[in-house]
Amino acid sequence: MYFSKDNAVTAEMIAERALFHLKYSRGKTLQVATDFDKFWSFAHVVRDLVIDGFTATQEEYLQKDVKRVYYLSMEFLIGKLLERNVLALDILKPSIEALKKLDIDLSTVIQMDIEAGLGNGGLGRLAACFLDSMASMELPAYGYGLRYEHGIFRQEFEDGWQQERPDNWLELGYPWEMVRPEYTMPVFVYGRVENISDTRRGKQPVWTDWQMFKAVPYDIPMIGFQTNTVNMLRLWSARADEGFRLDVFNQGDYVRAVEEKNWAENVTKVLYPSDNTHAGQELRLIQEYFLVSCSVRDIVRRHEKKHSDLRDFAEKNAVQMNDTHPALAVAELMRIFCDEYEMPWDNAWEITTKTCAYTNHTLLPEALETWPVELINRVLPRHLQIIYEINHRFLQRVEMAHPGNSELIQKVSLIEENGHRSVRMANLAVVGSHAVNGVAGLHSKLLRERVMPEMSELYPNKFINVTNGITHRRWLLKCNPELSALITDKIGSGWIHNLKELTKLEPLATDKAFQKEFMAIKRRNKEALGKMIENDLHIPIHPDSLFDVQVKRLHMYKRQLLSTMYLITLYQRIKANPKMDILPRTFVFAAKAAPGYHLAKRLIKLINSVAVVVNHDPDVAGRLKVVFLPDYNVSLAEKIIPAADLSEQISTAGKEASGTGNMKLSLNGALTIGTWDGANIEIAQHVGEENIFIFGHREEELHALAQNSYNPWTYYDNDQELQHVLEAIRVNSFDPSQPALFMDLFDDLTRHGDPFFYMADYRLYLDAQEKVEALFRQPEAWAEKSILNVARMGWFSSDRTINEYAEKIWGIKPISIPDTE
Ligand SMILES: *Cc1c(COP(=O)(O)O)cnc(C)c1O
Repeated sequence: MYFSKDNAVTAEMIAERALFHLKYSRGKTLQVATDFDKFWSFAHVVRDLVIDGFTATQEEYLQKDVKRVYYLSMEFLIGKLLERNVLALDILKPSIEALKKLDIDLSTVIQMDIEAGLGNGGLGRLAACFLDSMASMELPAYGYGLRYEHGIFRQEFEDGWQQERPDNWLELGYPWEMVRPEYTMPVFVYGRVENISDTRRGKQPVWTDWQMFKAVPYDIPMIGFQTNTVNMLRLWSARADEGFRLDVFNQGDYVRAVEEKNWAENVTKVLYPSDNTHAGQELRLIQEYFLVSCSVRDIVRRHEKKHSDLRDFAEKNAVQMNDTHPALAVAELMRIFCDEYEMPWDNAWEITTKTCAYTNHTLLPEALETWPVELINRVLPRHLQIIYEINHRFLQRVEMAHPGNSELIQKVSLIEENGHRSVRMANLAVVGSHAVNGVAGLHSKLLRERVMPEMSELYPNKFINVTNGITHRRWLLKCNPELSALITDKIGSGWIHNLKELTKLEPLATDKAFQKEFMAIKRRNKEALGKMIENDLHIPIHPDSLFDVQVKRLHMYKRQLLSTMYLITLYQRIKANPKMDILPRTFVFAAKAAPGYHLAKRLIKLINSVAVVVNHDPDVAGRLKVVFLPDYNVSLAEKIIPAADLSEQISTAGKEASGTGNMKLSLNGALTIGTWDGANIEIAQHVGEENIFIFGHREEELHALAQNSYNPWTYYDNDQELQHVLEAIRVNSFDPSQPALFMDLFDDLTRHGDPFFYMADYRLYLDAQEKVEALFRQPEAWAEKSILNVARMGWFSSDRTINEYAEKIWGIKPISIPDTE
């Protein structure tokens, strides 16, 4: 690491510096310091250690004039940073020792760390894993996002119903950010476009009458794992401009003027809490533009430090758009190039498309962003003109290649016309990018074949696949320290830098002594989670039961209701025959539902209602336990995942773009029960189909079913257990005082056509669960498969993913940051 060459980090030094920060940053003595004071002081010691690396990294990028990649994302679900940073700097031992000298427990301090929940789920967590990999692989990279005052809501349950509470992560201060007011950027919205005569260029469009506000950057250092590289995540915070509504000030209405400042400051007030659905609010559009506008300006500013013009912009800068949320970057780059730098359109277009690339994250129609033309015209009038011009030229080319094909034109147009007109952001992103990628093999194929067949024919080489990955440094090394130590003990520590080295564990899969050690660690992780559940929820947990885990956002396509139906089936079997031989199981759910997602919120209530009944029924005799842990977030995931035996990845085939939870769980030795969907397919290919429980209809089969008027009642009529489960849901047999509470869930699976094919997959899922049960009763066979899962998951490191982006899309190379003198 940066500092370690001439300046080894000792426990003495850490202790001394921690006391210094306690005194001079917090104004406290050790005697009166709170746990948060101690955390703050230690976090600043860690932060101080990366400052030299941080400045040296930027200096090196500038001097060498390297090509940089900019990852634009509305979400970065980074979670806690302290422990991760301690591991990245390789100062765990001296830190523990130093804190012990001060009579402080490192784990207490780590607990006080602040959860940065600036994302909803997989998409935001992917961005966070990428930042980790990019820094650890010494790539010149930047994350750009928004500094929401309130991240994803905190979830509580009241009488089994989800309650949303505001997340106040900035309340006590956030030690990992550095505010940079000197790099404040102006952002303009609203107004109109006037054509004004220019003596050289004739009539030119000029955007006027706009309202201006400001973007203040806050930088979070992203420390490479045991390298000198310290990259940054730059998060923008919206502020009112001082001159804001000066006219109102001049009229003497001071209070109203100050009130109006709120408008600007609301822009980064809150993260929109919907996952895989498009909210469509004006404020959300402004948020998206705000991210794009100040980030693009910042990129241009940095480029100009070394270059007198923008001709080689695309050779030095790559912009990756994480989903279509930042797709306005295409129009914004064109506006800056053409309007502010007076570049001819064709040159500007070539540079823009060479610079930009787009990652698609979903095929769900409700998630595809479209914005009403009327709204864009009001908020961003000049951008709408540019989008029209892009569309006009694009459609002209299409018409030339396929004369008279009006159906094709209508399908690929950036403008959707059905009653009212709207801009299709995915089409804008595709046309404006040189590469478009899906996030797993099947998803990329369906993107080409089902969602955008015309586009992929027009641009056969643009569409590629880059399968997602996860950072094993958080999702194994940090979250499962005992397993990590065992692995290092057996195969050395090379896996920390190259996860593929895990294959060296393969020969140990049948080694009885190793199986014992391996399963003992799983058992201790289960005990720890069980204790936490007993403490927090007062549900006694047996660590020898099968921990059946489904943790992810709540969504009908993810089918938490399917595992709930299985659970109800098991309960009904026990009620019918209390003496039956049944494998003890602990069902662990954790999931937030979008606040406006009615069915998802009902499902939370259903699971909590079933839990109350099942957990207390004497006939069950503790053999089934149902636990719904509130407030799923990164830190909770880190506790659950190392304790999982079974990983539920049961989305409707073709609907989960990739999934990354599936990878985290398998890497920690959970066996997957899953559909042929997303990255489950690639997991099956890597771990071996004999080491995973795949079930259910495949996408082609469901596609055919849908085309042949799928009828859920057919399955109902032929399956008594299915009828029995659905009846319990229909009448709410779990709480007769509230009959028909779950009628909407019943209707969705029956009268409303079962859009996610629960009925078709129910029996197949039960059959697969029976195989799970049989295998779990053979501990050695289970252990072998579990070890093989760990050993064969190396390919799913986000280092591999990032390497593919760097080579196939960005054209950037690692650069080592030298040690200083
Ligand atoms: C990994 C992760 C996700 C994504 O989980 P999926 O199962 O892939 O949907 C969501 N939320 C958190 C907190 C995560 O860590």
